[in-house]
Amino acid sequence: MIKAVRGTRDLLPPETALWNFVEAAVRDVFRAYNFQEIRTPIFEATELFARGVGEETDIVSKEMYTWDDPPGRFREYVERYRELITALQEGRQLSGGPVPLENLAGQQSLTLRPENTAGVVRAYIQHKLWDRGLNKLYYIGPQFRRERPQKGRYRQFYQIGAEVIGPASAGSESPARDAEVLEMLATLLDRLGIANWNLELNSVGCPSDRVKFNEALRNALEPVKEKMCADCQRRAVTNPLRVFDCKVPEDQPIIEKLPRISQFLDEGCRTHFEAVQAILAKVGVRFSLNDRLVRGLDYYTRTAFEFTHGALGAQNAILGGGRYDGLSEALGGPAAPGIGFAIGEDRLVMSLQEKASAESVLRKPDVYVAPMAGMNGEAARLARELRRNDLVIELGDDSFRLKKSFEAATKAGAKYILIVGENEVKADSFALKNLATGEQVSVPRAELAQRIQG
Ligand code: AMP
Repeated sequence: MIKAVRGTRDLLPPETALWNFVEAAVRDVFRAYNFQEIRTPIFEATELFARGVGEETDIVSKEMYTWDDPPGRFREYVERYRELITALQEGRQLSGGPVPLENLAGQQSLTLRPENTAGVVRAYIQHKLWDRGLNKLYYIGPQFRRERPQKGRYRQFYQIGAEVIGPASAGSESPARDAEVLEMLATLLDRLGIANWNLELNSVGCPSDRVKFNEALRNALEPVKEKMCADCQRRAVTNPLRVFDCKVPEDQPIIEKLPRISQFLDEGCRTHFEAVQAILAKVGVRFSLNDRLVRGLDYYTRTAFEFTHGALGAQNAILGGGRYDGLSEALGGPAAPGIGFAIGEDRLVMSLQEKASAESVLRKPDVYVAPMAGMNGEAARLARELRRNDLVIELGDDSFRLKKSFEAATKAGAKYILIVGENEVKADSFALKNLATGEQVSVPRAELAQRIQG
């Protein structure tokens, strides 16, 4: 049997109803904040993520699904040259020349997107979205990371994200945007009935703050790094900020004593951060400060945040995000400060399942239409009329005996069964039975939809 690949999974009904429920709420809430949907490709040039996410991040260094397209040409080229060199060294003649260099020309390295911000910002630059006044975009879609699969962590997972991006003249740098995005997220989680969320907030400052902070971290790590895990030893040299990502319990007491970014914020970053907090307090969004929150991605500046949920266990982050004022320029675009987030949809649905079952949001058939012998056509006609009235119809088959139709209707969870026999068609009035109460009435065709809806 061929099974779904490790770290990927099929989302089956009725669970997909929960996913649809979540996505409908997302679209509804985001619309109220005037966000519009963008759909970017699932694969992009590898360079986009190397530059936009950062070569040193775990995502880019270990977790991307990357391939050469078209495949194998580089190897073909190298192997042919090897043959030619060996032949030359051995004084042999080889027929045929080298593989033409042009064969390599069209080849590029491609990658399944591990996140969607880089793609959105690429599209922003490519289509000059600032000219169209498009500065609030959201997406819903799959992302791919080769992580070790476990509960709440998949290799194909889904993110719901949004980005506010634009020239500073459009106010995209303002702390009001940060607060608005955070308030929108609080509204979404409340709307979905996810009560016990916790918003953790930090400012990671600007690049110049981080130069000073990194320096201080390096100095603090120098005498202790030997005692830390292998990852931290490497981080201490290449990118000390990432030490805060460490989850190894033995390292925590050391990390606790390290300097914090909050001590290094310049005047501009500090007032920005205070303004974000003041607006959140004003609109009544609760949060806690966490100055260890540095986020895994290189392009983040100033506000960084995470929403966690107790019920999720080890993988307790439902969503993360922050400001990325330097990203557009890093990708060759104009200065375009921005802020965004990505919700892990898999985890959002998981935290929802704690209270709402998929069954409760699933729309079951209103009516099971049961044709008697030879009545498939008449039944189809009736089903068509009822579906036009926005009713959910499960259509049976005229090979079924009545008993089997009743069983099928019950199994489908239909509210009513509607019997379409020769007599009914002649009278243009149909037997409608409520499967819960057992009440049965004959209803004229013209009144059926209303009767069922009522
Ligand atoms: P990130 O893009 O790493 O900031 O992740 C944002 C959110 O996506 C996290 O808070 C998780 O909820 C979710 N997420 C990230 N990686 C995975 C994964 N491998 N499987 C499921 N959800 C994930």
